[in-house]
Amino acid sequence: MIDICLLGSGGMMPLPGRWLSSALVRYGSTLTLFDAGEGTQIPWKSLGWGFKQLGTICLTHMHADHVAGLPGVLFMLANAGKAEPLDIYGPPGTRYVYEGLHRIVHEMPFPIRIHELKGGEQFPLPGGLKGSAAAALHGIPCLAYRIDLERGRLFLPEQAQALGLPVQLWSRLQHGETLTYNGRIITPSQVLGPPRRGISLAFITDTRPTQALSQFARDVDLMICESMYDNPEDLGLAQAHYHMLASEAAGLAKAAGARELILTHFSPKITDPAVAERAARRIFPNSRAAKDGMIVSLNYPE
Ligand SMILES: [Zn+2]
Ligand SMILES: [Zn+2]
Repeated sequence: MIDICLLGSGGMMPLPGRWLSSALVRYGSTLTLFDAGEGTQIPWKSLGWGFKQLGTICLTHMHADHVAGLPGVLFMLANAGKAEPLDIYGPPGTRYVYEGLHRIVHEMPFPIRIHELKGGEQFPLPGGLKGSAAAALHGIPCLAYRIDLERGRLFLPEQAQALGLPVQLWSRLQHGETLTYNGRIITPSQVLGPPRRGISLAFITDTRPTQALSQFARDVDLMICESMYDNPEDLGLAQAHYHMLASEAAGLAKAAGARELILTHFSPKITDPAVAERAARRIFPNSRAAKDGMIVSLNYPE
């Protein structure tokens, strides 16, 4: 099971009752953070998931509402006694911004490794989750992220027994090894069930909708997507500032074949996110507006 907490749902600036649009992903005892806007550590602290287990921060881009909270987050990690390395992924320019922000925090008691991505890469996330990045369209380098938790094929003991294989060999086949037994070649497919669907989610913010992003987010269980504007009359603004209308986020989720859409990164002028939610549902019914502190759990389908 993967739990995701929408720590905030705002874009541009934190407001009373609305933090910026960071998301914290918990898998087993590990944590991964998407974006770190101003004040991110505050809703995180109320959540009670702890700080020390954070292994990776994925930054979409270098606008303040996505990175200015980094010093506060690093301070909380140090304060919690983190000693293991922290990986920070982001687009080109991440190292430059990190080095600037680093000047206002103490020396961290854990190593920090910066990885700059262009989009198209895959990289490991804490707990064995698979991360991938794609280029977004925001006027400056910006990345969308995807997490995949793969699920192994079911082992079929009756098949192994029918082949006369001793129990000691079962786990090797289960782990994908082809072996020879009594002169016969035995492949994993002979003792494994069909491929099984895993769990996946995409975090897409500060971008126009693009066909490449709908491909990138193909079939995800959950798409967390920006919805800077809710009014179709703001399309010109959305285009000029490389953001999306709620209806465009819904169109992206539909094109990707996502199972569920959560809208976030609301402009300060959106006072009632239910309007964006209704606009999205007309195009993609399984849509809802993020609320600060909302937790979503994704499980393997049975
Ligand atoms: Zn933003
Ligand atoms: Zn931005």
